[in-house]
Amino acid sequence: MNIILLGPPGAGKGTLANKIKEEKDAVQIATGDIFRYNISNETDLGLKAKAYMDRGDLVPDELTVDLVWDAFDKIDSKDDKKIVLFDGFPRTIDQAKALDLGMKERGQKIDQVVYFDVDEDILVERISGRRVCTNCGATFHVKNNPPKVEGVCDVCGEKLIQRDDDTEKTVEKRIHVYNSQTAVLIDYYKDQGILLSIDGTNSPDEVFDEFNDKLGEIS
Ligand code: ADP
Ligand code: ADP
Ligand code: ZN
Repeated sequence: MNIILLGPPGAGKGTLANKIKEEKDAVQIATGDIFRYNISNETDLGLKAKAYMDRGDLVPDELTVDLVWDAFDKIDSKDDKKIVLFDGFPRTIDQAKALDLGMKERGQKIDQVVYFDVDEDILVERISGRRVCTNCGATFHVKNNPPKVEGVCDVCGEKLIQRDDDTEKTVEKRIHVYNSQTAVLIDYYKDQGILLSIDGTNSPDEVFDEFNDKLGEIS
């Protein structure tokens, strides 16, 4: 089952993906994580992507689509039970079309799109307080979900950092980019009849419950 997590930066996509992975047979393809991995390993892709990310712009489609297929084609069993979560992809109409086409070529399809509805003021507060683990990628929030020891990952004990693009100035740019380039995907998937809206302002547990309830209703 192929599921897209669609929503503005800070909406809680990664947080829900982690909960789904803990409880179900699921894998996550998070383009932002793949870019950050490439940046920390100083690959060609990482060097190219960094400038766009630091500005809060989207990385060009031609650098993004192929790596999604690389990751997707590496997943071994893609039966009906296995959940593949697309987190942060697609972010443009062209990416969505490329995803539809590639799925068709593989005899697959996108089954559901989970849209996170969250107001902008909440997004800024969430992103400014986000702290991520440099080692395992676990995500915390200084107020909403603080680690047991400040600056230290509960999961693996490594250092927590603030992402370079999680500053207040870049956040506003990223929300603007989302509104101008990504939000059109809501109607794109509504027209396909596969959009499922979730109230992203609730707590992470409530978001997970709503996801399970709504998915249970249709599958
Ligand atoms: P968030 O969802 O918190 O905004 P991500 O980790 O998904 O953050 O993305 C961080 C940055 O990586 C984006 O601002 C953008 O520069 C780049 N990026 C991630 N996914 C894509 C994508 N599908 N297309 C283009 N750029 C992307
Ligand atoms: P995204 O992947 O959509 O950019 P994240 O899952 O990384 O968003 O969440 C952004 C920040 O908000 C993180 O610091 C996370 O701990 C926090 N957060 C996520 N979901 C919720 C929620 N439902 N309620 C409160 N805070 C949340
Ligand atoms: Zn960790």
